[in-house]
Amino acid sequence: MIFGWLRRRRRARVLARPLPAAAAEVLASMEFVEALLPEERSRFEELIKLLLDQVYWEGRSGLEITDEMRVSIAAQACRLTLHLPEDAYRKVKTIYVFPGTYSAHGGDSGEGTSHRHGEAWLRGPVVFSWDAAHHGVRNEDDGRNVVYHEFAHKLDMLDGYADGVPPIQTRGAHQAWTGVLDEEFKALVQADERGRRTLLDKYGATNPAEFFAVATELFFERPGRMKDRHKELYQSLAAFYRQDPASREDTPRAR
Ligand SMILES: [Zn+2]
Repeated sequence: MIFGWLRRRRRARVLARPLPAAAAEVLASMEFVEALLPEERSRFEELIKLLLDQVYWEGRSGLEITDEMRVSIAAQACRLTLHLPEDAYRKVKTIYVFPGTYSAHGGDSGEGTSHRHGEAWLRGPVVFSWDAAHHGVRNEDDGRNVVYHEFAHKLDMLDGYADGVPPIQTRGAHQAWTGVLDEEFKALVQADERGRRTLLDKYGATNPAEFFAVATELFFERPGRMKDRHKELYQSLAAFYRQDPASREDTPRAR
């Protein structure tokens, strides 16, 4: 009981503080932020404040971590959870940021190559290269976003497993998701084996966990195109994230 009370008091204190000064410029540089409805915008800023407060941030390999970096990563992360329960990132406690790609030291999500852009550990930190995390802000519609990718892993891992199936509320929704995931994952594996180009990055063919992370990147970065080509997958992700980013894609450029 006392913990609940302390948590509520801490939460109120965190939310009463303004965002770091760097936030204004960072958020203004993000196209998706502009499209948020007023009530979403205030929710979004609350989520950022809570994540900034909850996480122990550390620069690695000599990187001095700045508020710009923290806000930039937190804002991209909180786009995913805008309509999810507030504690969806409760297991994210530590974020390490390297200046550029770094050498692998073996995370649970096993991002494959030895030169990494990011990783998410099942019971441990999320790790980024700042180059890669910053790329997500500068290019919002190229289909790639390492922050979405790694935080999707953290959502997937909420139930203790990195299996491509994040905790989904109802049994029906759960079955629908696993059915769609299975079918789309197999199709991507097959396309990859045949060397066919696909809208979904073929890294998603690695395993279902990577498939969910890669599909999440596409869902937020190129929603219109994804909805056209992978309608059921798009709808399953829209149901999980409780968002419909395709409906906000305004310019032809973004298609
Ligand atoms: Zn991954």
